[in-house]
Amino acid sequence: MIPYVRELTFEYGACDQVSPLIRRVVAKNPGPFTYLGTGTYIVGRGEVAVIDPGPDLPEHLDALMAALAGERVTHILVTHHHSDHSPLAGPLKEKTGAPIYGCAVKTPDADRSVITEAGHDLGFAPDIDICGGGQVFEGPGWTLEAVATPGHTSNHICFALKEENALFSGDHIMGWSTTVVSPPDGDMTAYMESLEMVKARGFDVLWPTHGPPVRDVTPFIEAYIAHRRAREAQVLQALSQGHTRIKDMVPALYAEVDPRLHPAAARSVLGHMIDLTRRGLVVADGEPGLDSAYRLA
Ligand SMILES: [Zn+2]
Repeated sequence: MIPYVRELTFEYGACDQVSPLIRRVVAKNPGPFTYLGTGTYIVGRGEVAVIDPGPDLPEHLDALMAALAGERVTHILVTHHHSDHSPLAGPLKEKTGAPIYGCAVKTPDADRSVITEAGHDLGFAPDIDICGGGQVFEGPGWTLEAVATPGHTSNHICFALKEENALFSGDHIMGWSTTVVSPPDGDMTAYMESLEMVKARGFDVLWPTHGPPVRDVTPFIEAYIAHRRAREAQVLQALSQGHTRIKDMVPALYAEVDPRLHPAAARSVLGHMIDLTRRGLVVADGEPGLDSAYRLA
């Protein structure tokens, strides 16, 4: 069981000091993929970085500009190109003059028929490319490092705050829910590697874009990994029982999930199938796809 954390006391548009170096403003875009809304983080005082400006909502831009009154934004940092994270980067840049740092979209999701996200900001174009991670950004009293975490999307970047041994985890790790890993842009193999890498870094706290922080970091990530491995075991079991098609496995594997979400769940199973074929455990007839037939190797 994943020890989810979901309690969050906040007011839309208000700016809350949530740690010595971190402030948060929550946008009013609640939904099935955004939980209560996008939490935009402001790091530092006076000269600050803004992480995930959020959806293109005029009232959220106004709330951010009010929170930033009298300060200079030096960096606009974006975790990935989903519509609840990146679209306000452009308008915020216009207002503040700060450059946008992020990794441009690599693999636009081919299948738009299934809603697996709040949406895709395919026009996302950072000024400074930080694909691959490792870049360090500094301001008075704060140091941020870009940490590449592909998986949820191919261009996902987390940001480590050195002074608080904290990680802004975007949608890579969320306290309130598991994350969607939808091929072709989502990649389960990369996702699992990114989870292991973050776990190994030993952060004291994770600040996801949606919901409250995760403070018991190692047990939480271990449960997150165990959840995916359990799903993988279920997929292998379904194959051993003679099921060959993803669409025939989903209703049983996701019996506890709202059937309206089964099309999105099927894409997660596809993520597992691609990973399992790469590892030589499963064979697909042709390229692994949603409608392929699969069997144990
Ligand atoms: Zn996302």
